[in-house]
Amino acid sequence: MHVPFVELKSQYQLIKSEIDEAMANVIAEGHYVGGAVVSRFESDFAKYVGVNYCISCGNGTDALEIALQALEIGSGDEVIVPAMSWISTAEVVSTVGAKPIFADILPDCYTIDPTDIVQKITAKTKAIIPVHFYGRPAQMDEITDVAKNHNLKIVEDCAQAHGAKYNGKSVGTFGDLGTFSFYPSKNLGAFGDAGGIVTNDDSLAKSCRLIGNHGQEQKHHHLREGRNSRMDALQAAVLQVKLKYLEEWTAARTSKAKYYNEQLAGLPVELPVLAEHHRHVFHVYAIQVNDRDQLKRKLAERGVDTQIHNPLSLPELLPYQQFDANDFPVAKAMAAKTLSLPIYPEITQKQQDHVVAMLKELL
Ligand SMILES: *Cc1c(COP(=O)(O)O)cnc(C)c1O
Repeated sequence: MHVPFVELKSQYQLIKSEIDEAMANVIAEGHYVGGAVVSRFESDFAKYVGVNYCISCGNGTDALEIALQALEIGSGDEVIVPAMSWISTAEVVSTVGAKPIFADILPDCYTIDPTDIVQKITAKTKAIIPVHFYGRPAQMDEITDVAKNHNLKIVEDCAQAHGAKYNGKSVGTFGDLGTFSFYPSKNLGAFGDAGGIVTNDDSLAKSCRLIGNHGQEQKHHHLREGRNSRMDALQAAVLQVKLKYLEEWTAARTSKAKYYNEQLAGLPVELPVLAEHHRHVFHVYAIQVNDRDQLKRKLAERGVDTQIHNPLSLPELLPYQQFDANDFPVAKAMAAKTLSLPIYPEITQKQQDHVVAMLKELL
């Protein structure tokens, strides 16, 4: 039996007629960037998250960058980011001219450690970017407290956490701004690159909107300099259809994650800790295991595709050599041991049973 790591085609097959129709309508209509289809997705996604505004843009990295620009973060400023994330979270801080400062992650949940945030605050610190990593909400109560006490802004990186909830409230609603990626393999994915920023703040929403469209309020009416970061109507059409299924797909991911947790209990691996009062949306289901690379290879020989999402912590990457990766021991240890198992709404119990059986054989 073969268990692929991701299966984007089978999801398309399930909703093919709706997607094809939505895309055909856009093509026939002839409005390919922005426009009514994009506006409708923005308002539907804002409603889904529970915020006043969603501003669409080109991708999740742009979303973070535009958010920082809207907060007027730049040269001379420091922004605290987790030592474990996709590089975008740190990269965008440098792109706007500020300096990323790493904080370690917590051992059980892999999200930024609020205590370490406090350690890293200086007179230059302007903002924190918590990441709802692998789909698990970061400790937003503690993080918002720290931000309030030190007068810092919060940009939540929700790229892996569409629909995740903390104390019953959607991620993206705790900070000044929340950013999403709709890259195809994310929990809500387009058929190409796309992203979005959410906020309740009128003036930040306006700034984000201006920055993503060359500072134009109306055509040729440039209020500031900005850039080009816009969503294609075709992507919005796809996302619009998929958004209707997101809750159902998220419930499936969660129950499949629980099934793995039950079946793998007792093996010499660390399993993801379910977020008791929160909603973990399992963008990634990762176990922590010794001899990870060998296990990955042996699983592949037995038809089980796995992935190493983050083989290195951010301070171990070449652009961040000025940091000592050993100062972030939790992130470093996690990077060395983490292995992502296949998880998606369409994975069958038979496939999961095969993954479990092979792990039992090998461990
Ligand atoms: C995917 C991802 C991004 C970037 O999104 P893109 O759409 O690929 O630019 C940012 N942060 C995290 C945590 C991600 O997983």
